[in-house]
Amino acid sequence: MRDDMLLAQVARWAREIPQAPAYTFVDHLGGGARHTLTWARADLKARALAVRLRELAGPGDRVAVLLPQGLDYVVAMIGAMYARLVAVPLFAPGLPGHGERLAGAYADADPLIVLTTTDALPGVADFLATAQAPKHVLAVDTVSDLLADEWEPEPAGPDDLAYLQYTSGSTRAPAGVEITHGNLTANATQLWELFRATPRTSVAALWLPLFHDMGLVATVAMPMMGGNLAAFMDPVAFVMRPVRWLRLLSEHDDVFTAGPNFAYEYTAARVTAEEKAGLDLSGVRVMLNGAEPVRPGAIEAFDAAFGGCGLRPEAHTPAYGLAEATVFVAATGRDERPVTTVFDRDALRDGRAVPAEEGAGLVSCGRPHGQRVRIVSGRALQDGQVGEIWVQGPNVARAYWRDAARSAEVFGAVLEGEEGTWLRTGDLGVLHDGRLYVTGRIKDLVIVDGRNHYPQDIEATVQEAHPAVRRDRVAAFGLSGDAGERLVVVAERSRSGEAADVAEVGRAVRAAVRKYHELSVHDFVLTTAGTIPRTSSGKIARRAALQAYLEGLLV
Ligand code: ATP
Ligand code: MG
Repeated sequence: MRDDMLLAQVARWAREIPQAPAYTFVDHLGGGARHTLTWARADLKARALAVRLRELAGPGDRVAVLLPQGLDYVVAMIGAMYARLVAVPLFAPGLPGHGERLAGAYADADPLIVLTTTDALPGVADFLATAQAPKHVLAVDTVSDLLADEWEPEPAGPDDLAYLQYTSGSTRAPAGVEITHGNLTANATQLWELFRATPRTSVAALWLPLFHDMGLVATVAMPMMGGNLAAFMDPVAFVMRPVRWLRLLSEHDDVFTAGPNFAYEYTAARVTAEEKAGLDLSGVRVMLNGAEPVRPGAIEAFDAAFGGCGLRPEAHTPAYGLAEATVFVAATGRDERPVTTVFDRDALRDGRAVPAEEGAGLVSCGRPHGQRVRIVSGRALQDGQVGEIWVQGPNVARAYWRDAARSAEVFGAVLEGEEGTWLRTGDLGVLHDGRLYVTGRIKDLVIVDGRNHYPQDIEATVQEAHPAVRRDRVAAFGLSGDAGERLVVVAERSRSGEAADVAEVGRAVRAAVRKYHELSVHDFVLTTAGTIPRTSSGKIARRAALQAYLEGLLV
């Protein structure tokens, strides 16, 4: 195997520190037992699986990973990559609300083999009865370790495909991004350098799903950099009792973790005073906050809740990234506090970032690391001007799986006077003092009377307007008509607002939106909890919400 690819590090640690723990899964849903793979075991199990896979398929064939969160998932990913097959990190069927994602990604990836576990096999069989049958279904836990000795390592080159990362599906059906070994190696290295992690010492402690880019890279790939440990749990275990995450963080010094914005708000709100008593968060050095807009309030709430537990304010690490760039693009540095800047709202809508006394508080996602970022509107713009975020670097993927037209459009952008091609992220942002601020998605902009409005700003206003509005369950979108777009707001009803009068809630919402955004709400719908479409990572899917609204499903 080529030594310069990240994957080759697994065999290296298996030789150099065979007994050191590599991956620990805390099985809260199965009684709380801890299961650990040492580097030697991780390598051995992956080699055994690779031998078995190569009896069934050849390089370039896709392997769908339909496993629940756990150590077998890690083995499946490393084994598939050892075998030089293309892994497709998905999940075991049956995750509520994820059926469409699984069916869509599975069909698109067109796998020859499905990997699962013995326990998940019945669910997989049910799922496969409704899908194109693969040639082989293999339970990872039934592969004999004895096969490992037969493995003859094959070099994976930087341009070889490692896996297909499906996007979250916030604006479309999830798209498969072709991640090469070169991309993965580059992105893990960039994260490692940014965090100034220490080989064998720094620990990753996580609950993010392994089928998402952030969970996969942070949990499976990062430990390979320095022979480190990743301790992780099931996302459901976290949601049930968020203190479990904090307890895991408390166990280690120099610990790294990550989560989307809502996780910080949720944890701050849910962990009780008694639970806090036993926590020591002083070892947490990097708490990545990405995948969604980072709200100043989330950081403040988390600090207020856990400042007394030794949490360092500089541990907060707002970050920006996307699957098309493997995952990570920009973040604040390890010992740097998050930077929030208040920008004038009107100027921002006109495409300029002007600091002001009052306005929109945006948290910076820091600086790009190991890659280049440009803000573009026809040409590269100067600092202070809002435009589309373009990215170029060794971590940027080359294409979407089997979609040449869209690939050319998204990955093949060129900038006058600059070499190479750029990734068009579809996100709007601005550089201010050299720091990146993400302002929103182009596709989600609501354009009324020629003025741009960011839906997340309107949603934030709406959820503060009346207690009957459920937090983080608001969708604002534009409805096209003869006279341009009109604003529609759909909000889920909160538990405490069950008896609230719709007309009264609507009045409060309309008044707030008019006041803060100078916009009139064309239609406001207060719907039942759970009806607004969201992605598997919990992001509001505004386009799908518009679709559901048009079909009369949101009432
Ligand atoms: P799809 O591309 O399928 O519509 P998605 O864009 O949500 O879904 P991901 O690649 O998982 O899929 O998510 C990346 C996107 O998440 C970014 O393009 C951006 O819109 C958003 N995002 C990530 N980090 C941040 C951040 N710090 N602030 C605001 N938005 C962010
Ligand atoms: Mg996207």
